[in-house]
Amino acid sequence: MKALIVIDYTNDFVADEGKLTSGERGQSIEERITELTKEFIDHNDYVIFAVDVHEENDPYHPETKLFPPHNIRGTKGRKLYGQLGMLLDNTFREEKENIEWIDKTRYSAFQGTDLELKLRERNVHEVHLTGVCTDICVLHTAVDAYNKGFSIVVHQDAVESFDPVGHNWAIEHFKNTLGAKVFVSGKER
Ligand code: ZN
Repeated sequence: MKALIVIDYTNDFVADEGKLTSGERGQSIEERITELTKEFIDHNDYVIFAVDVHEENDPYHPETKLFPPHNIRGTKGRKLYGQLGMLLDNTFREEKENIEWIDKTRYSAFQGTDLELKLRERNVHEVHLTGVCTDICVLHTAVDAYNKGFSIVVHQDAVESFDPVGHNWAIEHFKNTLGAKVFVSGKER
């Protein structure tokens, strides 16, 4: 079985008014990330939304010193952005079993979550990564997936970053150092 991991595609990371937004670059993948999510749901593959969560003014969290407050629990900023948010609202109403929402507090979706257990339970060997930011949360998730022995596919047309240099560097790193397949339009680049 394969799994799609949709990372941090929330209002705070993507919308114009987002607290830590990737702006137009993040918005440019809206259609593709929604299409891929729909495709995986329709094929009954496993779909995981791995979504950053923070508490307001948490003095112990390392990101407090690095970034402005973002994805605060219970806020609109933590809701999935645009078409993807609408797709999920509609799909959750149908109560699909193969969709999971995982709250994460660190860059990697594996860190401090039961993501690995969920994947192993379902015999998932291949993880497909999408979302933002390519060179932060997607990268850290990919590194953990690599170390845990999962095969990795990164959808280049469904990941983005506020930083184009970091984005391009990370794409090459996925391929050359983590042995990931990099897909564009669903085909290996
Ligand atoms: Zn964060």
